[in-house]
Amino acid sequence: MAYIPYGKQSINADDVAAVVNVLQSDWLTQGPSITDFESQVAHYAGARYGAAVCNATAALHLACLALGVKEGDWVWTSPNTFLASANCARYCGAFVDFVDICPLTYNMSVEALKLKLKAAQKNNCLPKVVIPVHFAGQSCDMKGIKALADQYGFKIIEDASHAIGARYDAQAVGSCLYSDITVFSFHPVKIITTAEGGMVLTNQQDLIDKVKLLRSHGMTRDEALMTDASEGAWYYQQVDLGFNYRITDLQCALGVSQLTRLDEFVKIRNNLVTRYHEQLQNTPLILPQVTADNYSAYHLYVIQLDPAKTTKTRKALFDHLREKNIGVNVHYIPVHLQPYYQRLGFKQHDFPVAENYYQHAISLPLYASLTSAEQDYVVDAIRDFLCG
Ligand SMILES: *Cc1c(COP(=O)(O)O)cnc(C)c1O
Repeated sequence: MAYIPYGKQSINADDVAAVVNVLQSDWLTQGPSITDFESQVAHYAGARYGAAVCNATAALHLACLALGVKEGDWVWTSPNTFLASANCARYCGAFVDFVDICPLTYNMSVEALKLKLKAAQKNNCLPKVVIPVHFAGQSCDMKGIKALADQYGFKIIEDASHAIGARYDAQAVGSCLYSDITVFSFHPVKIITTAEGGMVLTNQQDLIDKVKLLRSHGMTRDEALMTDASEGAWYYQQVDLGFNYRITDLQCALGVSQLTRLDEFVKIRNNLVTRYHEQLQNTPLILPQVTADNYSAYHLYVIQLDPAKTTKTRKALFDHLREKNIGVNVHYIPVHLQPYYQRLGFKQHDFPVAENYYQHAISLPLYASLTSAEQDYVVDAIRDFLCG
């Protein structure tokens, strides 16, 4: 069997044609494909505004800046995430802290958040922003988090890098109904891709204006934003310190084309998950669960070896599958255990649920072009290991 990765893109002839089309056009960057992609993703998700940027890490950084995150502020996120969900706050000079996860969904625990907020209020160090991460494509309990935001006065950035195409409470993830900003990633392993790419979604005009200003150096040609009258048609001003976080028209044309297949991709992922569920039940594995109010985009299918039912180790299973040319992976090493965050004072046992989950988790291959033969091969390899 040829190598089976844990995730990969699905590119068809229409995707290729869309990119070639832009290559032959007048605009390789800062052109109409970018605004097309922004408005189509925003429309899909039910948000008022979208701003496309070079990757989701940049999107998270700009989201923090738009919400005014600065030195001395606190930003909280989940320890069970990719590094970028925490790093974005560090870029702004803010302190980062984590909220432990729920053992069933692997998402930020609202109970843990509630307790931590109570303690933080006493110590006068409430977070300015909380960044829930929709792990594996399943939304967090956003109603619960929003209720706490209203009570304690923090802002919310949803890191929905895994979750474009998912629904929560019958609403598309990205609607920002329960948050200030939502961020999507279009890295090739995610649900749809622009090679590299990300998007900031919001319903608040002032936030999108700020994001668009900062993604391109903090410079403007809009006289309304200038400190004094324009000196002519050539004139621009830098009114803030921004970056070059722009995405290209090539990438956005790919994004527009991929977006037409998003619902199909998510459906295929859910069908593949149903097959994994059927074939892996009644084994010493803990299978992922989706709550009744969620339709997951299923970026990841994470299994855990149940220590109550087997003495076999995660490492042994992982090595067995890699030997069989199956590109399993582990999501995630808890962020607070990284040397950089340990230097900031975090320690082993700080977030025990995330740490325990990490000890047992393996992500199986899951992507739109995974064939049933490949999936059967993965299942057989797991069954061989468990019986061996
Ligand atoms: C992939 C990912 C990111 C970063 O996305 P990039 O587009 O690669 O910068 C951020 N957060 C989470 C949870 C991710 O999975």
